[in-house]
Amino acid sequence: MIPPVANNFVAGEDAPAALDHVRELNADGVGAILNLLGEHYDDPAKAADDAAAYCDLVDDIADAGVDACISVKPSQLGIDVGEDVFRENLADVVARAEVRGVFVWLDMEDHTTTDATLDAFEHHVTDHAAMGVCVQANLRRTREDLERLVELPGTVRLVKGAYDPPKEVAYRGKATVNERYREELEYLFEHADHVAVGSHDPEMVGYALDLHDEYGTEFEIQMLMGVREEAQFQLAEAGYDVNQYVPYGDKWLSYFYRRVRERKENALFALRAILG
Ligand SMILES: Cc1cc2nc3c(=O)[nH]c(=O)nc-3n(C[C@H](O)[C@H](O)[C@H](O)COP(=O)(O)OP(=O)(O)OC[C@H]3O[C@@H](n4cnc5c(N)ncnc54)[C@H](O)[C@@H]3O)c2cc1C
Repeated sequence: MIPPVANNFVAGEDAPAALDHVRELNADGVGAILNLLGEHYDDPAKAADDAAAYCDLVDDIADAGVDACISVKPSQLGIDVGEDVFRENLADVVARAEVRGVFVWLDMEDHTTTDATLDAFEHHVTDHAAMGVCVQANLRRTREDLERLVELPGTVRLVKGAYDPPKEVAYRGKATVNERYREELEYLFEHADHVAVGSHDPEMVGYALDLHDEYGTEFEIQMLMGVREEAQFQLAEAGYDVNQYVPYGDKWLSYFYRRVRERKENALFALRAILG
């Protein structure tokens, strides 16, 4: 069972628990992006198991009639085993999602997987437009990737980047990455049909609202479960399209540890909960 301190960030250990959380979000006008926790498999059987679990989840979402989609990690679908394994598993998930009318996001992992992830996205999105891919503003290559992506169907989620790539391929330092984020966000609002703003940063969200006023481009705001939830509900209440990224599954410990490590307030909150 997930201890109370972790269940702020993780919706539960199985799909029914995650769907309960989705219903609560939907009641407050917030959509959900469901992510079954799991990554970096070197065993093809585990990747196939998670692909099958995602197919079941797609059915669950469609049967429940909730406002939810899925977000999958390439390394969860076997990219570390081989690009062919990843592509086959992704094809299964995308095929089921197409039949059931569920949107599929591809998360972006470390920079060594960017090409394979974007290639797989391009391969599928041409026939299945209800797809999106995450792009990291801290990578030097990102503008070139966006130029390619805005010519395709599908949606881009712009994030700052959660990995720590070498300086040869990435911009370093908070201020520089923020500047890059603003520039890429403006590029997307100017050239894409729809933009997903994946950030908790009030400055970036405010900038997205300004860009919407300037360019009129449709957009959605995406934030993680347990992070600035009040802002999520306020934005939804104000009429914006808000979607919460909702992780669930039995591999919750490392995800929770990551959330705690990235922010002092989360660590203090966890400590207080553990000490009672
Ligand atoms: C929906 C979603 C999907 C993502 N998918 C990916 C992915 O596929 N690949 C990837 O590399 N990364 C992904 N990320 C992570 C992303 O790259 C960043 O690491 C992460 O979002 C932190 O950057 P930030 O813009 O949210 O804010 P930060 O730069 O961390 O913080 C900026 C400001 O935001 C506010 N803030 C941030 N966190 C909190 C908090 N916990 N509580 C209160 N205020 C806070 C504070 O005002 C802070 O000063 C995703 C993020 C989101 C929200």
